[in-house]
Amino acid sequence: MPELPEVETVRRSLEALIVGKTMASVEVRLARIIRTPPDAAAFAALLTGCRVEAVRRRGKYLLFEVPPWTLVSHLRMEGQYRLASALEPESPHTHVVFHFTDGTELRYRDVRQFGTMDLVRDLAEAPEGLRTLGPEPFDPLLTAAAFYGRIHGRQAPIKAVLLDQTCLAGLGNIYVDEALFAARIHPQRPADRVTKREASVLLHEIREVLTRAIEAGGSSVRTYVNGYGRHGGFQVELSVYGREGQPCRVCGTEILKLRVAGRGTHVCPTCQGRPKQRRRRRKTARQGA
Ligand SMILES: [Zn+2]
Repeated sequence: MPELPEVETVRRSLEALIVGKTMASVEVRLARIIRTPPDAAAFAALLTGCRVEAVRRRGKYLLFEVPPWTLVSHLRMEGQYRLASALEPESPHTHVVFHFTDGTELRYRDVRQFGTMDLVRDLAEAPEGLRTLGPEPFDPLLTAAAFYGRIHGRQAPIKAVLLDQTCLAGLGNIYVDEALFAARIHPQRPADRVTKREASVLLHEIREVLTRAIEAGGSSVRTYVNGYGRHGGFQVELSVYGREGQPCRVCGTEILKLRVAGRGTHVCPTCQGRPKQRRRRRKTARQGA
């Protein structure tokens, strides 16, 4: 599933490609992609004649500003946008086509068909997932103390808490595994056992891994491509994700794949320790005190 770096890369490519273009017509071939309004024909009619003013991102959502509307798009598993000329042959699984007045068209392709589009006037009408999003990882108001406050008091594994979009927006399976590895925190550690100091390191590593991934154009682990149809390059820099059975780049220990929060989770058992051992150590320390 595209995560923050991939959606941001798509956003940047689309911003360069479609801002300023006016929609001549919109073709919806698979009605279930469109959630709001419930009638796909109305969706197409409302967008016709609208000009793309901006392409923004919030968490893993793309927000196309087409006044008076905001088109909220979530790529889910494999949604892809591609700008093409009307003459270019179309890929299979193209479900929505935005035809522009200059003869180009933005094609939405989605093999798995899990992606969604909502056309709304304001945030109050937006899908719940967007309205309840936590802060952006790069939000300057998200200080180390604020981040600690968001994860502290939750007993779920830290991985589950980081995947929760209401806690922090934009992270998914790949970058949670990478950030926890970089911060040397085991994904199964209960969030309330992450110390203030570790939370500060973790926030720093989240920002670090997201920044590097955006610079590399995202990770093409599955089918992800940007608006130019180009793959990302960050997959070769991944430290643990998808590297089970291979040696840790730091200590040489074999990377393990576990199941945490219902997701395949990659961990270096040496670098990231085991949560049980830490708990035991703390107990001993307390008893001794
Ligand atoms: Zn290691």
